[in-house]
Amino acid sequence: MEKTTQLVVATGNAGKVREVTAIFSGMPLIVQSLRDYPDIGPIEECGATFAQNALIKARTVAEKTHCLTLADDSGLVVDALGGRPGIFSARYGADLALMPGESNDQRNIRKLLGEMDGVPEARRTCRFVACLALVRPDGREMTLEAHWEGRLLTAPRGENGFGYDPIFFDPLREQSAACMSLSEKNAISHRGKALRALLERLPHFLSLPPLPAPIQNGE
Ligand code: IMP
Repeated sequence: MEKTTQLVVATGNAGKVREVTAIFSGMPLIVQSLRDYPDIGPIEECGATFAQNALIKARTVAEKTHCLTLADDSGLVVDALGGRPGIFSARYGADLALMPGESNDQRNIRKLLGEMDGVPEARRTCRFVACLALVRPDGREMTLEAHWEGRLLTAPRGENGFGYDPIFFDPLREQSAACMSLSEKNAISHRGKALRALLERLPHFLSLPPLPAPIQNGE
C-alpha cells in the first residue's frame, strides 16, 4: 500500500512511536515523531483532564508541522484517592526525595502505597486511563478514551512493564500488569484498546470534509 499521509506522533518516547507504527502498519501513513522535529520544544501540559492534555499536545504539533498529529495522555486513577494521581501520574512522587538507587517510577509507587496504607481490599479499585487526540492540519479533531480496570496491590509484584505496572492487579487474569508479557498487556491495556479503537475510526476521520470556515463578524 502506498504511504501517502504523514502522521506525527507528538512524543519523543521511542517505545510509544514503535507501538503506533506497528498498529498502523496496514494504513497509508508515514509515521514520524517529535524526534523528526527537534525545533519543537517541550509542550506544557496545563490541562485539567487527560483529554485536554492530549489535545493541547496534538494541536500544538499539528499547528507547527501542518501534519496529521496524534498525541496521548495516560495515567492511573485511584478511587480511594479521589482520582489521584490521575493526570499527575508521571511525576506523582516528585515531592519526595529519591532514595539511593530508587527510580522515579519506584518513588511514585512508594508515595502511592504510603497513601493507600490501611485501605481495605474492597476500596482499592483503580483504573489505567489512556486518552488519544488526533488533529488534522485543517483543525478537525477527534479524542478517544479507554480504561483498564484493576485493584491496587499492597506491594509490588512482577518485573515487566513500567510505571505503576507492579502494583496494578488485573482481577480477571489474576496477575499484576508487571507479570504480563508486552503482547499480553497490549491485548487488554488502556493504551492497546484506545489505539485499536482509533485504528477502526481512522478511515472515516480521514475522509471527513474540511470544517467550514468560521463565520466572521459582519458577514
Ligand atoms: P504519559 O502518558 O506518558 O504522560 O504517562 C503518564 C504516566 O502514567 C506514566 O509515566 C506512568 O507513570 C503512568 N502510566 C501510564 N500508562 C501506564 C501503564 O501502562 N503502566 C504503568 N504506568 C502507566
